[in-house]
Amino acid sequence: MLTYVYEFSEGNKDLKDLLGGKGANLAEMTNLGLPVPPGFTITTEACRAYLADGAMPDGLAEQVEEKLRALESAMGKRLGQPDDPLLVSVRSGAKFSMPGMMETVLNIGLNDESVRGLAEQAGDERFAWDSYRRLIQMFGKTVQGIDGELFEEAIEQAKRDKGVTDDLQLDAADFRRLVEEFKGIVAEHTGREFPADPREQMDLAVKAVFESWNAPRAVLYRRQERIPVDLGTAVNVCAMVFGNLGMDSGTGVAFTRDPATGRQGVYGDYLANAQGEDVVAGIRNTVPLAELERIDKRSHDELMSIMETLENHYRDLCDIEFTIERGKLWMLQTRVGKRTAAAAFRIADQLVEQGMITRDEALERVTGDQLAQLMFPRFDEKAERDLLGTGMNASPGAAVGRAVFDSYTAVKWSRSGEKVILCRRETNPDDLEGMLAAEGILTSRGGKTSHAAVVARGMGKTCVCGAEELDVDTKNRRMRTPGGRIVEEGDLISIDGSTGQVFLGEVPVVDSPVVRYFDGAEPAGAQADDLVGAVDRMMAAADKARRMGVRANADTPEDAARARRMGAQGIGLCRTEHMFLGDRRPLVERLILADTGQEREEALAALLPLQREDFTGIFDALDGLPVTVRLLDPPLHEFLPDITELSVRVAVAEARGEENENDLRLLQAVHRLHEQNPMLGLRGVRLGLVVPGLFTMQVRAIAQAAAERIRAGGDPRPEIMIPLVGTVQELEIIRDESVRVLREVGEEYGVGLEFPVGTMIELPRAALTAGQIAESAEFFSFGTNDLTQTVWGFSRDDVEASFFSSYLEKGVFGVSPFETLDTDGVGRLVRIAAQEGRAARPGLKLGVCGEHGGDPASVHFFHGAGLDYVSCSPFRVPVARLEAGRAAA
Ligand code: PEP
Ligand code: MG
Repeated sequence: MLTYVYEFSEGNKDLKDLLGGKGANLAEMTNLGLPVPPGFTITTEACRAYLADGAMPDGLAEQVEEKLRALESAMGKRLGQPDDPLLVSVRSGAKFSMPGMMETVLNIGLNDESVRGLAEQAGDERFAWDSYRRLIQMFGKTVQGIDGELFEEAIEQAKRDKGVTDDLQLDAADFRRLVEEFKGIVAEHTGREFPADPREQMDLAVKAVFESWNAPRAVLYRRQERIPVDLGTAVNVCAMVFGNLGMDSGTGVAFTRDPATGRQGVYGDYLANAQGEDVVAGIRNTVPLAELERIDKRSHDELMSIMETLENHYRDLCDIEFTIERGKLWMLQTRVGKRTAAAAFRIADQLVEQGMITRDEALERVTGDQLAQLMFPRFDEKAERDLLGTGMNASPGAAVGRAVFDSYTAVKWSRSGEKVILCRRETNPDDLEGMLAAEGILTSRGGKTSHAAVVARGMGKTCVCGAEELDVDTKNRRMRTPGGRIVEEGDLISIDGSTGQVFLGEVPVVDSPVVRYFDGAEPAGAQADDLVGAVDRMMAAADKARRMGVRANADTPEDAARARRMGAQGIGLCRTEHMFLGDRRPLVERLILADTGQEREEALAALLPLQREDFTGIFDALDGLPVTVRLLDPPLHEFLPDITELSVRVAVAEARGEENENDLRLLQAVHRLHEQNPMLGLRGVRLGLVVPGLFTMQVRAIAQAAAERIRAGGDPRPEIMIPLVGTVQELEIIRDESVRVLREVGEEYGVGLEFPVGTMIELPRAALTAGQIAESAEFFSFGTNDLTQTVWGFSRDDVEASFFSSYLEKGVFGVSPFETLDTDGVGRLVRIAAQEGRAARPGLKLGVCGEHGGDPASVHFFHGAGLDYVSCSPFRVPVARLEAGRAAA
């Protein structure tokens, strides 16, 4: 027969699968000889059997009986014994902590008789009746499913009747009356009396804990947290000890280091004459743990020594719940404690310095998400805030500036030294300059992969998107809240990209020293703040451990230089689209409108030197490092005026008899190029094949820039990347042309220009025919943004704002597949393409340049899939370095 019940002394901390986290740690403390009230744990296996069969497994009742007897003999009293009752608590405890679904019932064993025995033994009537009403209340709520409000309301009424406001002012008689009332509530709502039999109370509580595993909120929580559905929960049955037996009793929580800052020293709160839930409920004010030394020095000193034992044993920060019953200290719980990002880095570093853990272990204890949190500027927590609305937290950070409603004003005002927040319904490539000029970007539409969000993350700019409550009226240059508050152009607003909140007025911002360090503004190591030192040492360990390279997505010399300072080992994606905007727009229009070959040639010839200059700057910033330049990707219509605006302009001009030839031709072109699904239309390599000379001009610009750099003594290392390839034939045509141009320019300048030509893998067909494509590609870079879009059939610009929130709510996925790679679907294609690509071309270089390249979970996947590097926005580079190191350590 299976063992379903373990005494605390029979388990240990490594049995979390079987005993749950709480049970395993209670067992560990028991075996360390710490003062844990005796008890036993019913295993997750019993829970699984119960949930599968709808009945308690054979033998469980007997095993519980046996352990209960042992508990009773250890305590020298029986459960619910009328003259001196043993009382127990019944608590759930799954392998992974699942806050919000924990079921707890205290004081099991009380009934109309034993309450008197308890009063007698404790010498405290009030305490006994208070304990009894707590039992009925918790049991009624968690075991019998009665609305907890009914009990709360009865207590409130009792206080009103008595004219008091505090529970402490209720006496024994009041609680006795409440017990009667609570029993009435139970009888009314369940059709039977409150069970007086202690063993029945216990069994029903155990069953309720088992069943709570499948409560809807628990199911949802597990789905979102990706906790397997079939683990089940354990149940801990533990002898009660009481912190509410007078001023020599109390209860508290403690941490072996400060979980907020990570600084060394013991932290915690203590509340005299109270039970655990009083501390959590914040009914009375706690005192700092240090006060306990004055109140009860013996217990204090014992607690300090236990905390030291626990920390040395777990080799990590522990959090602890304890109770003092009439001067005797009891440990009720411990676990490796949760902590803030700063504390995680400081503590891991301290433990290495103290010789408790190795650097590689320390690396396991910090995450890229924590590092990212440390890098964002933030609003001062203590400052006053006036909330206007909340959108999606698209790109973290804290930005303050004057609201402006178009790109032009953003640029103009920022040139005159004003800080601005660009507020738009949604952004498009036309807004780029405004976005660059702004401190932050706020949109009322669009999701986390909308243009605003992706570009802002790329720029490391704070962005709140999809703040639908804020009605942005760009025409009248203002926005309005549902409550009718209005923000006019020029009003100061503050946006928090980490929470999605938008505030009126200026909320003070504090800078991140960690970013200053990465950006080279703080010398490494010479920082007084040990946080920077801790980060520095952790980064060194990660860099040493990692196999994958880390590059950046950057398309200006400034971004490229910053990326390099942040540790990027090259550029994995230099998008060339922005190089076709701004002042160059008329040239691009000429190119698109060209009727004759000659007109086109002229437009291209005018663009060539400008492109060359772009590349020269970037090659200079990344001298000696690879720069993957992607040829033009977005559909051409994006470079033409908006169809509606232009139609109106033409119609107005027509009505006035002032027709403009150029506008008419533009309108024709806009119509000609208009597509229902531009994302699936004339873009990427298709453009290169359809618009004669376009890609050739870009390759020539790259080649000339490289040749000039070489002549100047530099070491440019461009890699030419063809986007949106679906079949090897597309690639071959462009590759042949590119190789021809490289050779031609090389000969012209008298230098060797043998640069690799490769492709993005961002369509399912490309992944599935990777073997063929690899014959003609010298490298692959996975464009996982488009790959996710096309594998799922999700429009990356729309879905997050339309139905993703309800998908997330329903648990279809725990996180957007545009944020964290869908390893089962998209990831499978990545693996297939990697394997088949390398089979066809051994040593084929593989990278990724979609947004996922900077996402911690995805970085681990790419490591496992054998990729050579990830590429992400400059600000994510440290995160990717850390995670690539953690993946390899
Ligand atoms: C991608 O599709 O993953 C990619 C990097 O290209 P873009 O985001 O520019 O389409
Ligand atoms: Mg793409």
